[in-house]
Amino acid sequence: MAKIEEYIPLVGQAVIDDLRLLSERLKGKVIQHINSTPVGGGVAEILNRMVPLLRELGVDTKWDVIKGEEQFFGVTKKFHNALHGRAEEITQRDFDIFMQTSQENIENVDIYGDIVFVHDPQPIALIKKKATNKWLWRCHIDVSDPNLKVWGFLMDFIVQYDSAVFSAPAFSRKLPIRQFLIPPSIDPLSDKNKELPEETINAVLRKYNIKKDKPILIQISRFDRLKDPIGVIDAYLRVKKYIDCQLILAGGTADDDPEGFKVLEEVKEKAKNDPDIHILLLPQNDIEVNALQRASDIIVQKSLKEGFGLTVAEALWKAKPVVASNVGGIPLQIKHKYSGLLCHSVEGASFAIKQLLSSPAYAMKLGENGREHIKNNFLITRHLRDYMLLFLSLYHPEDIVNL
Ligand code: UDP
Repeated sequence: MAKIEEYIPLVGQAVIDDLRLLSERLKGKVIQHINSTPVGGGVAEILNRMVPLLRELGVDTKWDVIKGEEQFFGVTKKFHNALHGRAEEITQRDFDIFMQTSQENIENVDIYGDIVFVHDPQPIALIKKKATNKWLWRCHIDVSDPNLKVWGFLMDFIVQYDSAVFSAPAFSRKLPIRQFLIPPSIDPLSDKNKELPEETINAVLRKYNIKKDKPILIQISRFDRLKDPIGVIDAYLRVKKYIDCQLILAGGTADDDPEGFKVLEEVKEKAKNDPDIHILLLPQNDIEVNALQRASDIIVQKSLKEGFGLTVAEALWKAKPVVASNVGGIPLQIKHKYSGLLCHSVEGASFAIKQLLSSPAYAMKLGENGREHIKNNFLITRHLRDYMLLFLSLYHPEDIVNL
């Protein structure tokens, strides 16, 4: 795993010096992250890198995961969809199931952090254990247009936190507590994003029996309706009428997402007669994700709703041309026609893909601009700085600007 010094060639000495200065000021404080899954999805992705780097900087950082049965995660998945604005029938029984598992976690999860950093709705009720320590609620979801029944339910917990953190201004809501806006990040030196030798890339293609004889389109995402894998196939089919190409839909499922297998079956059914559609159920293997992204000609993220959309940052960092929906955090990363192409529909996605396949120089320019944008805004070094400033601000709200 990369050490903090290794980031110097990418971001400069001053950035790393700054991180060291900030971490000094957090000596003696224990930061306890709590979420609902150790693997799968963007939250776990970030914590897997954030936690070791904070520790290396000398910030005493721990990470705990709550427990829950399938029924609980069925409910929290419904909450997730409803918070994104999708129509969901939420019943009193759902709230009861949520509270029952929450109660078990309240009894079983040890709270020892000076700062308890709770991610997303699943562990939100742990706030009932608040004593004199500081509690942060980190919302990774775009809650700009939520189901108000679910949002109202969560509000009873949120107001008990010291502060809330959202990924972007457009994601947040009016709250009676302090709010911070901190976009997520990618780690340029992780297995997911580091440079790879051509041989590694080719070996992964061979493993999955994919030839490079025609352009490769790819979407890498959990098999989730909000990622619209069926829409990706429809867009590909439209492109294919004009330009021969192949499509990879690659994804795993997350422990806290029980819907995944159902969606995967639907996708397989839709793709079954087309040998140029490769559906890969990836094991948790970052090198493979990295290799597949690098092997592709165009990276698609046709989500119907999105949090920040880490896959877009990962793709742009690899200087790939990206076609992605204009939802959630994606427009923060893609300026249309400058660092990628934004779309609003299957037709729009297929039009954009055709355009990029027929203009490789334009596609390459978009990719290069995208990489620069990610470098300047969405690398983990920026995120580490933001989080440490956030932690410090809980203790010294009045001198935050002087740090
Ligand atoms: N990812 C992965 N394997 C998969 C599917 C996704 O490693 O099979 C990773 C992906 O590369 C990204 C994260 O999981 O780092 C997904 O984060 P994103 O913000 O795109 O979406 P989320 O799943 O959090 O909605």
